[in-house]
Amino acid sequence: MASPPVGPRPRRNEQHRCAHCGSRFEVWHTGDPLAEHTAIEVRCPCCGASTPVTVPRGAEKDLRVDNLPGPEPETGVVD
Ligand SMILES: [Zn+2]
Repeated sequence: MASPPVGPRPRRNEQHRCAHCGSRFEVWHTGDPLAEHTAIEVRCPCCGASTPVTVPRGAEKDLRVDNLPGPEPETGVVD
């Protein structure tokens, strides 16, 4: 029984915040949001600290991390 072919998937992005320097960044991936998620660590583009994030399983092989410029107030932080 063959799996259904996987077509091009839209690249999704999730915003995260570095616990070390507080800068925000986006994690881009092409994982299936309905798939089981797995915890990984990405490097903060600002300070290089490892930051734990969760992505759909398999997405960790195709990640892009972009810095989000601009100061971020301490209020209204989304997880
Ligand atoms: Zn950082």
